[in-house]
Formats: sequence, C-alpha cells, structure tokens
Amino acid sequence: MGLFKAWKEVKAVAASGASTGQRPHGGQGVALGFAMAMMKMMGPLLAAEAPERGDPLPGTEAGVLEPQDPGAMQAAMAAITARDSAFDPQLLTTFADQVFAAVSAAWGSGDSAAVRPVLADAIWDDLAAAVVVAGAGGSGMILSRQAGRSTLAGAWAGTWYDTARFNVAVSVDLPAEMAAEAPPGFGPWNEDWLFQRSVTPGGASVMPAESCPSCGAPASTDAAGACTHCHQPIPLLTSGWVLTAIRSHNPMVEMVRDQMTSAARQNPAEFAQMPDEFLRLLPADLVAQIAPDRVATLHLRP
Ligand SMILES: [Zn+2]
Repeated sequence: MGLFKAWKEVKAVAASGASTGQRPHGGQGVALGFAMAMMKMMGPLLAAEAPERGDPLPGTEAGVLEPQDPGAMQAAMAAITARDSAFDPQLLTTFADQVFAAVSAAWGSGDSAAVRPVLADAIWDDLAAAVVVAGAGGSGMILSRQAGRSTLAGAWAGTWYDTARFNVAVSVDLPAEMAAEAPPGFGPWNEDWLFQRSVTPGGASVMPAESCPSCGAPASTDAAGACTHCHQPIPLLTSGWVLTAIRSHNPMVEMVRDQMTSAARQNPAEFAQMPDEFLRLLPADLVAQIAPDRVATLHLRP
C-alpha cells in the first residue's frame, strides 16, 4: 500500500474514533479492524520514520539534543581538534550528507547493508526492517527521494565521546503526479542528526568496553547501559563517527502520531494489541494506561 493512501486510511479511522467518543461496534468495528491490520503492516515504516530514533550513547553528557550557543560550539570544536588534529568540521559535514544520501538510497534499493557500519544498532534495526516493507509496498520510492543538506549545529568534547549534531534540511523531490496526491503539509522539514565517536577507538563500528571505566569490573550493563556494579554509564567504543540519534520534525509524521494518540484514547482495547514500534509512538502515560503489562519490554522514552 502506498504511503499516502495508508496515511489517509489512518486519518479516516482516527477521525471516526474521535467523532463517536465510544467503543466501536457493527460496521465501524469491521472498518477499525481493517485499519488496525493495515497499521500493523505499517509498523516498521512508522518506526523508521518516527520522530525519535535512537539515543545518545551511554555516558554522553546531557543536552546534546538541545540548542547550543555558538561560543560553546566553538570551544568544543577547539577541544576536539586539540585531541585530534585531523578533525575537520567541513569533512564531517560532507560525511553527514553522505550518510543521509546512503540512507535514502537504502529506501529505494531495499538494502541497508551499505549503511550498517555508520549507524548505531537501534537506528539500523528499524531501518533494515522498514526498507524491506517499504520496497514491497512502493513507499520506498517516495522515501528514497529524500534529500538532506546538513549544517553543523552543535559540538561537544565529552569524557567518552566527541559529539556533533547536524541540522538537516530535508526535502522530497516527488514526480509531478505524486506531488499532486501528497497531503497538505507534506513539504520540507528539519531533522537533528547526532553523530558520535568514542575517544577510545574500538575495532568494530560499535563495540562495548571490556571493563567499567568507573569501578574496573568486567563490563556488565543494565537496560540503560549502566554498570550493574557501580551504576555509572559504560561507554561504547566506535571505530569512527556513527549516527546514534535522529530527532525528526516532519509535520506529516507528527500529525499521524497526534491522530494515533487520539484514536488510541478512544479505542484502548484495540490499541493495546498493536505492535511494539507502534505503541512507542504514543505518549508513555497513555501506553501505561492502555497496555500496562507491556510497558516493561517497550523501552519507552520518558
Ligand atoms: Zn562500574
């Protein structure tokens, strides 16, 4: 199913849930069931285009996804250069554009193997699953036409990592006949792309440290990436810059999420059965309300 058609179906079911204000029955129940089945199919796509994808690596200083003032950014770039004289912000910006282009290409080819070495696990897992679904459904063609232009917007020289955040201006170059079908609000948007590399390089693209740098115990981490002995973060080691987090400000995806949230409030029992990647799009307090038994395994963001 095409992305725009699916989007209209989702919009329709969200609207029907909101207008009745009660549990569906009869014909409406059948329509809702159909929409639910369709949304389950769309789950991987929604996850790969979710507003929040990935997270800063464990042990990253706070605030790397927040705006940074230019003075602090200059100071951080000087600090990164002090420990790596080869650091070149221009080259890194070109690299960010190349990663964006390679991710777009994966949507078109259905093959994400080429970007594996530069994506953190959480982002790659969702992308790898989604490009296959998108290719089969035809949505991959639309998503492969995303073009991004990166501007360095923040830099941090941390204890464990060098971190660079890019503001990416995303546009989609649609063929004319598709542009006519595109919903209102489908246009250029901004995304924040966070690249990180460990100060202590690893051999693999991303690998765990062998021991906890805080207490010296052999590395054993909890779900949040903290040491099970001293509860300090255990950093990951990278062989170079890796994309660890994306925060997308795509108004179409945000609109879908708002409509899903509204529909989930109206139909809590049906939404309690939705796949994980779908529930992760809903506010954490709503998920706790409609699917309390699944909260523990969902790794929801606060
Ligand atoms: Zn420790």
